[in-house]
Amino acid sequence: MAKLRIENLYKRYDLKGKKKKNAKLNDFAVNNLSLDCEEGEFVALLGPSGCGKTTTLRMIAGLEDITDGGIYIGDELVNNLHPKDRHIGLAFEDYALYPPLKVYENIAFNMRAKGAKNDEVHRRVMEIAPLLKVEDLLDKMPVKLSGGQKQRVNIARAIVRNPKLLLMDEPLSHLDGKMRQELRTEIKRLHNKIKCTSVYVTHDQLEAMSLADRIAIMDLGVLQQFGTPLEIYDDPVNEFVAAFIGEPPMNILKTTIAKIESEFYFTFEDSELRILVPNRYYDLLSDGMVVKMGVRPMDVIIGKEDSKGEPVKVAVFENLGDERRIGVHVGDKLFMLITSEEVRYKQGQSIKLEVRAEKTHLFDIETGLRIRN
Ligand code: ATP
Repeated sequence: MAKLRIENLYKRYDLKGKKKKNAKLNDFAVNNLSLDCEEGEFVALLGPSGCGKTTTLRMIAGLEDITDGGIYIGDELVNNLHPKDRHIGLAFEDYALYPPLKVYENIAFNMRAKGAKNDEVHRRVMEIAPLLKVEDLLDKMPVKLSGGQKQRVNIARAIVRNPKLLLMDEPLSHLDGKMRQELRTEIKRLHNKIKCTSVYVTHDQLEAMSLADRIAIMDLGVLQQFGTPLEIYDDPVNEFVAAFIGEPPMNILKTTIAKIESEFYFTFEDSELRILVPNRYYDLLSDGMVVKMGVRPMDVIIGKEDSKGEPVKVAVFENLGDERRIGVHVGDKLFMLITSEEVRYKQGQSIKLEVRAEKTHLFDIETGLRIRN
């Protein structure tokens, strides 16, 4: 295994044949990306469709030319190295197993292509197969395998040559819910065992949060934040990251700060809702200031009847068994809270809302950047 370093990486696809007025929009599929992946680390590239994840992975693999920047595997600049000389293992969304070859030969294929001897191939296949739990499938043809089994074989094939770097692009996206979860756990277990430096592309925040040591969140080709799952969840650098991570998503609302007597409140257009501003923001705010306020649904609490702020009416109440979700209309948005308490509310019932002070975030109304105190 090796570390990976990406320095100021750019990708601009050839815009030939595209309308010039659209050129700006698609100018850079990857725009000045820099990140480091430590030896043995599992890094997820996460973001919405079209944000440049796959392009980044393909450039690391050498399957896509880079427009500018540098990619280092270990200490070696690999920009001009052929994919086969980069010592990488690849597992993509479509399994692309060789249909005429049995599972054993599919796993063995890359070793045979490198001229490995039979006993070496056999030793390695028999070592890898149990790691992916495919030892009972070695004699089968790919057509007989389920989607989950195919992906296991695919990953086995990717790691059989002990790559310096394992690159995976949405390996679970073809699988149904249960299989997906199962293989996600297997990938985690596998990584803990072989500790191969891994880069994993996904648009699924749950996969990224559960698998990765660190997550790189991208939007429109630009890296937004690179950090541990906890850092990204608790300490988002901007509104995009805050909104992208978390299910249900963070409540993010435009608010005008109102000073009433000596206290500040978050107030909202077309809504009675007023939420007491945590003291820690007092130095940053002034009466009439407009910002965005963000708070996760589990950090909103139902206030006591005599607590400060105006009551609001329950618009949605959902009992999901182990948690209850309550929504109130704030202007044209639904402001959600989640509670594990045994409460039952009716639509139209009045409640007061409070927020956990230390869990609220403020964002600049223009730039979306976090306003920190
Ligand atoms: P998805 O999850 O949908 O695969 P992604 O985050 O992996 O998305 P990329 O596939 O890397 O995104 O695409 C990034 C941008 O580059 C998009 O705007 C896409 O349209 C564009 N793009 C990707 N491949 C090409 C190509 N071969 N030619 C031109 N533009 C491309």
